[in-house]
Amino acid sequence: MIVSIIIPCFNEEATLDILYTRLTSVMSSLEKHQYEIVLVNDGSKDKTEDMLLDFAKKDKHIKVYSFSRNFGHQAAVSCGIHNCQGDIAIIIDADLQDPPEVLPDMIALYEKTECPIIYGKRISREGETFFKKITARMFYRIINLMSDITFPVDTGDFRLIDKSVIEAYKDFPESPKYIRGLISWMGFEQIPFEYERKSRVAGETKYTFKKMLMFAKTGIMSFSIKPLRISLFFGILSISAAVILGLWVFYLYFNRPEVLVPGWASIIISVLFLGGIQMFVLSIIAEYLGSIFNISKKRPEYILKNKKKNNI
Ligand code: UDP
Ligand code: MG
Repeated sequence: MIVSIIIPCFNEEATLDILYTRLTSVMSSLEKHQYEIVLVNDGSKDKTEDMLLDFAKKDKHIKVYSFSRNFGHQAAVSCGIHNCQGDIAIIIDADLQDPPEVLPDMIALYEKTECPIIYGKRISREGETFFKKITARMFYRIINLMSDITFPVDTGDFRLIDKSVIEAYKDFPESPKYIRGLISWMGFEQIPFEYERKSRVAGETKYTFKKMLMFAKTGIMSFSIKPLRISLFFGILSISAAVILGLWVFYLYFNRPEVLVPGWASIIISVLFLGGIQMFVLSIIAEYLGSIFNISKKRPEYILKNKKKNNI
């Protein structure tokens, strides 16, 4: 069996040497299997690209794909899945938060179960801020609440997928992708593999707050139309309010007309209220429209640099 290890790398010069040493020692100890390591340089600005090409020069197991600019973590993983040769592939981060030493157990679990998807489930998260943990926790619960299918919670992209998943993945042209969601969406059987998520060996997180927000937006919008239904909720609410208000004014008109000040305040307030709701609803529709627009454009998800910059 050929095992492909897929690693997205963005400005990871500080971690690459340790990653290469630890990963290679683990993989070469797997006597029964051949392996390749697919490293995707996601438009790094530091020495990442040179370092990866150096690894490739001295080690035939290494393949390097280099993006023309930073297309993001999900695009880098996509590139790895599209181009790997393995019978199974394992997606793992470059910062060793998912320790390579657990890979033999993960592969053994696959051999035992032949389950097409084995996802890494974090039983603990070392060295991550309270903010990161709480937002991640909330995100996985919200996305499950919003979506019609259930995604495993507290799992990242660290997972093992077999050939059937790899091939199916190639038929998803949508962009941007929420990969762990798409893989769940395929409906193949999946089982957890529990592990302790470590802290980064070096460097800092490459997921800025903005990238996290964009990622959350992609995740939610790719799998849910529930936000659109908010418009229905507010529509019914505002119509009901209007009817009740109308009935009340009607009642006062016949019973206590003296309290009815020929007023304009209520009208203005209702107009503002309804206007606000319309704007809010429009903004939701606009978000989806934007997303449909993006998909319909079918832009390439990533663009490779010229052949010399890649080691294929
Ligand atoms: N990454 C990437 N492109 C990006 C951001 C991150 O390829 O735009 C890679 C990064 O090099 C790492 C993985 O994605 O291998 C996860 O990123 P990071 O560890 O910074 O995220 P965190 O673990 O803090 O969520
Ligand atoms: Mg990390």
